Amino acid sequence: MNMKKQKPLPKAQVQVDLKTAETMTCVECENKIFIQGYVVKRISAIVSPTGKEVIAPVQVFNCGNCGEMLNIGGEMDELI
Ligand SMILES: [Zn+2]
Repeated sequence: MNMKKQKPLPKAQVQVDLKTAETMTCVECENKIFIQGYVVKRISAIVSPTGKEVIAPVQVFNCGNCGEMLNIGGEMDELI
């Protein structure tokens, strides 16, 4: 089994004009600079598809000023 083989992502290389993109700000202090972090999930061997314990890092962003986590939507709250 070759894990490095990946399917090509369709339309992944779309050019985006960042000037028109929204700058996300901290909900607590309106800071615009975020630091990168990880929430690390441990999937027990019982529920893991491979039958082995899996460590799964989930990338999150924290406000560089107050540390509040950036809410990027989705299921982030449920994950943590
Ligand atoms: Zn903040």
